[in-house]
Amino acid sequence: MARKPIIVGNWKMNKTPSEAEVFMKGIEEILTGEEAADYGIGAPYVDLDVCVKNAKNLIIAAENCNEKDSGAYTGEVSVPMLKEVGITYCIIGHSERRTYYNETDAACAAKCKRLLADNIIPILCIGETEAEYDAGKTADVIKSQLNGSLAGLTAEEVAKIVIAYEPIWAIGTGKSANEETAENCCKCVRDTVKEMYNEEAAEAVRIQYGGSVKPTNIKSYMACPDIDGALIGGASLKVDSFKEIIDATK
Ligand code: 13P
Repeated sequence: MARKPIIVGNWKMNKTPSEAEVFMKGIEEILTGEEAADYGIGAPYVDLDVCVKNAKNLIIAAENCNEKDSGAYTGEVSVPMLKEVGITYCIIGHSERRTYYNETDAACAAKCKRLLADNIIPILCIGETEAEYDAGKTADVIKSQLNGSLAGLTAEEVAKIVIAYEPIWAIGTGKSANEETAENCCKCVRDTVKEMYNEEAAEAVRIQYGGSVKPTNIKSYMACPDIDGALIGGASLKVDSFKEIIDATK
């Protein structure tokens, strides 16, 4: 079965609820629901409700979750809370969370497992640092992060998720990976899923490239056989540039 492309913006810590509403209305205007790809937005917790209420065709993703259902965890948000708001996807293990908030592979695995139990699809982020890239360790990092972050997931669960390969050196730098590097790394992700699970899971899992994706380069990534979409930071913040990305890919 052909994999449906999936293009998701990651707003990170940007946009108030009123700004989110303006964006949602601007993008929904050009979507019909007949597109060949899934399009979505990852938004801060406080924006999720307004995003879901204004979404007709856009997927709305949270940017994080806690793996526990409730309790004394000040500042955290649980999967049942996201579920009730109507969230269907959740970004997990973004490099910014791994770097600034010490999110480990084990924590990512627990969050993915908990999300899947409520049918929320994790968008699991992985990717190497510039030093690791320069040292030729990219494949080792991909394998190690996947082994840790998918621990405890079944082949059927992995087949449903999205994995975003985002080299840290390409995030927010304008220094996007060239298509060959991006394709090789996404293929390495798929090969690793095959080694860890089976061919079926590897063929089904959707793999995104992320890191300085823009309206001008999205098409070349989407033409690569193992790249099924993109996770987009900066270029997802303005209605016009996200529209251009949609127009280039629908
Ligand atoms: P940029 O598109 O701004 O490089 O960010 C990528 C990213 O981190 C998406 O999750």
